[in-house]
Amino acid sequence: MGVRTGAQYLHDVNQSPRELWIDGRRITGAVAEDAAFRRLAGSIAGLYDLQHQPGLQEEMTYQSPSSGDRVGLSFLTPRTKDDLARRRRMMQHWANFSGGIMGRTPDYLNSDLMALASASGFFDQNDPRFGENVRRYYEYVRENDLCLTHTLINPQSNRAVGPSQQSDPYIAARILEKTSAGVVVRGARMLATLPLADEILVFPSTVIRATDEDKPYAYAFSLPCATPGLRFICRESFDYGRPEFDHPLASRFEEMDAMVVFDDVLVPWDRVFLLENGELCNRLYSDTDATVHMTHQVVVKNIAKAEFVLGVASTIVDMIGIEQFQHVQEKIAEMIIAVETQKAFILASEANAHENPYGVMTPDWTPLNIARNTFPKIYPRLVEIIQQLGASGLMAIPTERDLSEPTLRRDIDRFYQARNTDAATRIRLFRLAWDLALSSFAGRQVLYERFFFGDPVRMAGALYFSYDKQPMKNRVAEFLERTPIPSPE
Ligand SMILES: Cc1cc2nc3c(=O)[nH]c(=O)nc-3n(C[C@H](O)[C@H](O)[C@H](O)COP(=O)(O)OP(=O)(O)OC[C@H]3O[C@@H](n4cnc5c(N)ncnc54)[C@H](O)[C@@H]3O)c2cc1C
Repeated sequence: MGVRTGAQYLHDVNQSPRELWIDGRRITGAVAEDAAFRRLAGSIAGLYDLQHQPGLQEEMTYQSPSSGDRVGLSFLTPRTKDDLARRRRMMQHWANFSGGIMGRTPDYLNSDLMALASASGFFDQNDPRFGENVRRYYEYVRENDLCLTHTLINPQSNRAVGPSQQSDPYIAARILEKTSAGVVVRGARMLATLPLADEILVFPSTVIRATDEDKPYAYAFSLPCATPGLRFICRESFDYGRPEFDHPLASRFEEMDAMVVFDDVLVPWDRVFLLENGELCNRLYSDTDATVHMTHQVVVKNIAKAEFVLGVASTIVDMIGIEQFQHVQEKIAEMIIAVETQKAFILASEANAHENPYGVMTPDWTPLNIARNTFPKIYPRLVEIIQQLGASGLMAIPTERDLSEPTLRRDIDRFYQARNTDAATRIRLFRLAWDLALSSFAGRQVLYERFFFGDPVRMAGALYFSYDKQPMKNRVAEFLERTPIPSPE
């Protein structure tokens, strides 16, 4: 089939009735037409349509090695450094579509799946059928241009103990039984962003102990989101149905996060990738280089996001005439540094890429690892700068209805104008800045950047232990050796 259009995505998602709950209501019927998801679905459709846009097809698609159809370029297995650059350019188009605000453009998990499939031998160690399953699944997703979500984390009930030691061993999703048809899973996983995806990956993340008690929590599999017994409990939506003028981001890019409940869900054998092997589960992301390719995508998204925030901040500076203040220049410079360092990280990762044992051209991990450790701190700061520069202007943001009211409009046109533009144009920008820095949607974006790629504290710990500090220690030791230690008189 090859790359889908937006209309095809909408058709497919509407034809897959998943069990989606929001605000006490079960969505029945066409999910992409429900008020809570209609505008998000439209944005995802917009992404798919980009792949068909004349002038972008060449950069966003490539010829499938199996069918000959044009398929999404984020599925391309990179064999050369040029392939990595092609993947980056493709991902930039999707990232810029939302100013980097959409974290779950499909290339994020396409990159994951591409890396997993290329390392199918890793899964063979658990069972030769599993490697074949991963390869076939990758082809299925690629050829049908499907969109994936994923869930990795156990519910937060009690982090002091592992999943088997919770008050109920089925809080964290656990293998209930194995049958001739597949494995049956009971319990829950915490969090899946984008429950409007076609498919869900249920993969390990937290460290699994190599004990018999933890064995039932050791697995990796995939399912269609519309699988019987699979239930998504969504959080409150931050798309309140307001006009795009009022909530320019929430009205378009509310990706939604959901708790995922497995009510005795059958996972067919051909969808099982790892089973009851905690040791392989713990090595999954590092041994397959999936984290590296996912981070490559994440940094592209982060650059688009940082550039977008920089664009908003700089436009505010021009509009209200604050460029001459030195602290304003310093804050914009801080944003520029954020953008340019992320760009440098990605280029360095490509320049120093190497072929991994599976023959995949793999970006250098160190700069990407640094990038993923810095952005959770950078993004909240970028948002803080918007607050510091916008100040009370971020509260002087009449709504579309206010602007349509003739009596108010006279006041608005007079009192809300900016140095270089009229009131309505200024308000449109400041509403965007508010949705970026202050709204409930903005708060979720900050939380997302802090956590979505893992706990920043544990990511820093991983960096500490994986970074080779020995050469620096040797250099210091050599320097110190030049100065003799005095002996006692
Ligand atoms: C908006 C959003 C979207 C997300 N989307 C997805 C998704 O689509 N799919 C998915 O799988 N996950 C998703 N996540 C979850 C994300 O992977 C986790 O938030 C992240 O891994 C941290 O885990 P946690 O939230 O369970 O925090 P917890 O592990 O519960 O941590 C809570 C606090 O305790 C501390 N802590 C806990 N354990 C330790 C420890 N061992 N050592 C040191 N400190 C510790 C943490 O540092 C933190 O301060 C999303 C999260 C957010 C906020």
